[in-house]
Amino acid sequence: MMSLPSQLPPSPRVRALRLAAVLTALAMLTASVLGIAYALKPSAEPAPEAGFAAGSALRHGSSSAEGKSLGDTYGNGKIPLDELVRIGPGRYLAPEAAAAFTLLAAGLREAGYAVKVNSAYRSLADQEGLAKRYGLLSEGGTAAVGTSEHGLGISVDMPLSGEALRWMESHAARHGFGNTVAGEPWHWTFVGAR
Ligand SMILES: [Zn+2]
Repeated sequence: MMSLPSQLPPSPRVRALRLAAVLTALAMLTASVLGIAYALKPSAEPAPEAGFAAGSALRHGSSSAEGKSLGDTYGNGKIPLDELVRIGPGRYLAPEAAAAFTLLAAGLREAGYAVKVNSAYRSLADQEGLAKRYGLLSEGGTAAVGTSEHGLGISVDMPLSGEALRWMESHAARHGFGNTVAGEPWHWTFVGAR
């Protein structure tokens, strides 16, 4: 760069100050770019337990490819069994819920707890049978007909010891399951992709 003869060349001290200012500006720019990149990064998933890849399994198994759940397609309690996946003797869930349940059950077993499913998908006839035994929800009983999450193939009823329940409370969500009915600690519903 040419300097006019009348200008004194900057002293070494001034040059050092300018350099420091430029470096500081660069550092701040870098920090803000990194900060933005970090903020845009998808939040870190909780570390999956050894051998599990729950997150990716849930994403790949998305039933929302066509944007409709089986419950939406067929109606509560009217899903054909051959659309469902068997998770145990007489126990069926919608495919995505079943895949997530498999990981949840493996986690429970690995933590040392027994996995028992007393109920999963319930047809309308099943729901009506329960309503006869336990009373309709709308009439003060505990059974829902036509509105049960069991009729959508996304819920399981699992008897859980106190310790197993605590495990579920801290781990089920990472497998997409939540305890969705207050006062029914056995009722766990796949909510991951809703
Ligand atoms: Zn239930």
